[in-house]
Amino acid sequence: MNIVAIGAHPDDIEIGCGGAIAKHVSQGDTVTFIIMTDGSSGGVSSEVRESEARNAAKILNVKEVHLLGYKDASLPGDKSVIDQVEKIILLASPDRVYIPYHHEIHQDHRTTSAVALSACRNVRQILMYEGPSTMSDFHVNYWINIEGHTEKKAESIRAHASQGEKEILKIDAILGMNTFRGYQARSTFAEGFVISRFLE
Ligand SMILES: [Zn+2]
Repeated sequence: MNIVAIGAHPDDIEIGCGGAIAKHVSQGDTVTFIIMTDGSSGGVSSEVRESEARNAAKILNVKEVHLLGYKDASLPGDKSVIDQVEKIILLASPDRVYIPYHHEIHQDHRTTSAVALSACRNVRQILMYEGPSTMSDFHVNYWINIEGHTEKKAESIRAHASQGEKEILKIDAILGMNTFRGYQARSTFAEGFVISRFLE
């Protein structure tokens, strides 16, 4: 399968679907990351955030990483941004994309979700992932079993060392969320998603 994961900031993809990504790679799938902003609101320079993003992708064995470099917290959602994402989507030809949920507290996450939906209008499978700023109407209806992939996921999150002091990157909380999603789905660890579209 060809997979594309889209995140607003460096670290969003790892938190929301890092286990699924590790699983895809282990199954021989081709994975592409698109990271919309430069992460410069994260307390360090965009250079640091970008190199951490590349390291995290390396840990997950994801070779294709597109850092679009929009200013953190001010991501625009106009046609030029949609066109830019769509160009990458056309090249990557994904069978499935992972995108942020549409109801998010953070404006970049909301904008990324909307941009991704427009740019991925011809993709058959679109799954929305969760994170610390997802709003409470996130009702999981698709689970991915990530047993055996949580170490890689945790390692990829730790690669964002500059964000380590922030509550947001608490590995215990993230793996706790995955433990609960696993509990719901009768496995040890799972990631939960909301389906935007799913055509087999
Ligand atoms: Zn984010």
